[in-house]
Amino acid sequence: MAKQTLFIPGPVTCAQAVLAATARPMINHRGPEFARLLHRCARGMQPIFGTRGEIVFLGGSGTSGLEAAVVNAFSAGERVLSCPVGVFGRRLAAVARTYGLDVDVLETANGSAVDPTALRARIAAAGERPYAGVLLTHNETSTGVENDMAALSAALGEYPGLRIVDSVSGLGASAFETDAWGYDMVVTATQKALAAPPGLAMVAVSAKAWARMESVTLPRFSLDLKKAREFAVDGQTPWTPPVSIVYALDAALDLYEAEGAPAVWARHARYSTAVRAAVEALGLALFSQPGAHSTTVVAMHLPAGVDGGKLNKTLRETYGIVMGGGQAEMKGKIARMGVMGDLTPADILGALGALELALAEQGAAIDLGAGVRAAARSFRDADASTAAPRLAVAR
Ligand code: PLP
Repeated sequence: MAKQTLFIPGPVTCAQAVLAATARPMINHRGPEFARLLHRCARGMQPIFGTRGEIVFLGGSGTSGLEAAVVNAFSAGERVLSCPVGVFGRRLAAVARTYGLDVDVLETANGSAVDPTALRARIAAAGERPYAGVLLTHNETSTGVENDMAALSAALGEYPGLRIVDSVSGLGASAFETDAWGYDMVVTATQKALAAPPGLAMVAVSAKAWARMESVTLPRFSLDLKKAREFAVDGQTPWTPPVSIVYALDAALDLYEAEGAPAVWARHARYSTAVRAAVEALGLALFSQPGAHSTTVVAMHLPAGVDGGKLNKTLRETYGIVMGGGQAEMKGKIARMGVMGDLTPADILGALGALELALAEQGAAIDLGAGVRAAARSFRDADASTAAPRLAVAR
């Protein structure tokens, strides 16, 4: 296969050390080596989740983690408030409906983040039938929108129900404080900002959520978090885990720790800021509104007359650059560029140059080089104002 660099918002380009870890010999998943591996991953993930609590590992993609959160948190017929800001938030609401929950939706305008005041008002207006839980998305991959999770936590105040967060494409790329912000179930997966291959979901669970699990009754078997908790004590999972992906996560966490969380956060912020600067310099509109921009994915409207499918085909086949397109009603209308994974500033600049060429090929009035120039300036200014290391990933 010709060389491809991934700028889709997951799976992402993985460092060689992470890929090499997947080739390690298989071990007994009920033996001491795996127990050490799993315990080490749990310890490594705790600061990334911002929790001292337990983290449950589930074989499967992010959706397994989200479904696990729903089925372990509620009983059928309970009322929950879903706060989608795009496709993945709506999907989480669909999971809840699938299990017979009574789902109310707090609507938010396209491209905007959830308004903390609106959330507070909606919770307060629940009246006789309070919400048993609130479903939030930290980072909405389909729209390039990031919610301010500290502000939403403050808006929830003393709200007594469970606070469930999809942070599949957010966790690791910026500071997250599960405990301090009072979130009860935070879900992520290996293939986004953690920069490992897909195959493992993780759920951080609060003491309040564990307590609620004792009484709620939605059906669950392989996604039973209490069972996972029992096995985790011995460094095991109830069912056979994706051992190679756990190896990869362990290697990815080594790289994460070597780079240091603040540098990882700064890297994602620098990259997404540079891409947004390029998009605006090219005269394209960002999909996300000011104040709601994602740290990990930039969504941009395509100029009139540009076919999103064709654009991505040219990028992939001519330039080896793989970008995301619009999902659901945004299909063909927007392009999405993820900045997670083992990428350097040079990768970002190259991809932006290829984007310019692919747009120009479709007749878009592009000032070739304007985007790359703006991104380069953005990198220069960010590097001048911080002590951020110039090379992205410590190898
Ligand atoms: N939630 C968000 C915000 C996502 O970005 C994704 C995947 O892109 C998912 C959920 C679903 O995760 P998965 O495809 O790993 O099941």
